[in-house]
Amino acid sequence: MTHMSCLFPALACAALLAPAPAHAAGPLPQLRAYEVREAWRQPVAPVRIARNTWHIGTAGLSALLVTGKDGAILIDGGMPQAADHLLANLAALGLQPSQVKWIVHSQAHADHVGPLAAVKRATGARVASNAESAALLARGGADDLHFGDGMLYHPLQVDRLLQDGELLELGDLRLQVHFTPGHTPGSMSWSWNDIGTDGAPVRIVYADSLSAPGYRLLDNPRYPRIVEDFRRSIATLRALPCDLLLTPHPEASGWRYDASPVRERELDCRGYADAAGAALDAQIEKERAAR
Ligand SMILES: [Zn+2]
Repeated sequence: MTHMSCLFPALACAALLAPAPAHAAGPLPQLRAYEVREAWRQPVAPVRIARNTWHIGTAGLSALLVTGKDGAILIDGGMPQAADHLLANLAALGLQPSQVKWIVHSQAHADHVGPLAAVKRATGARVASNAESAALLARGGADDLHFGDGMLYHPLQVDRLLQDGELLELGDLRLQVHFTPGHTPGSMSWSWNDIGTDGAPVRIVYADSLSAPGYRLLDNPRYPRIVEDFRRSIATLRALPCDLLLTPHPEASGWRYDASPVRERELDCRGYADAAGAALDAQIEKERAAR
């Protein structure tokens, strides 16, 4: 591929033509409007989670690539400024951008879907989401129920609307979506089967955030059933077959992609759900006491 025939934005092309070793790069720049900690912007080289499952994002934000014989599925991308890093990591894995066939996500917040519009342009992948999230993606994160216009990103057009429990299939890959509303009304978790690094089958769950950072939980006029949604989602995740748990914020499930070993502690879906339930109860109690 030459510069003349390159269809992608200049930076993405440069990254594809001569991929720099991702782990050697410094942190990506801050966004003036949405500043986040350095680990969320720190590129890391691809991390193998299981035979077909890779982390290709930054040290502190998950971007998962599930690869099969007919192409790959990207789940989440991290911050808006991470697009070129994701494409560089694809190249580091020997994949062409066009081999990414589907893009899906957890929550439609800027720190997880920020670069997906750019990645869609660069790869030609189709985007699958649910109706709730599709509306927020189309607004580029504007009018968020809790954050207003505080976390914006390039709007993303959804190509296929998913129903709860639906399978997204690509060749030999089968990902199942589980609606887990609460952190956002359109929050989604994902499960798929893979082979672990020890050669044994693993049922992987990528569970969306169950946190309510600064949210009003009691009598929220914009989201009246938020607590019921959280409780149902916690029960959904608690009941999933789950040998290996991953989360959009890796530390929430015991991972650190810039550490060795990358898995600092073992946490399963049950433990994750129970911790979320306890945190939710404590937050509700605090809110009640402050009334
Ligand atoms: Zn979020």
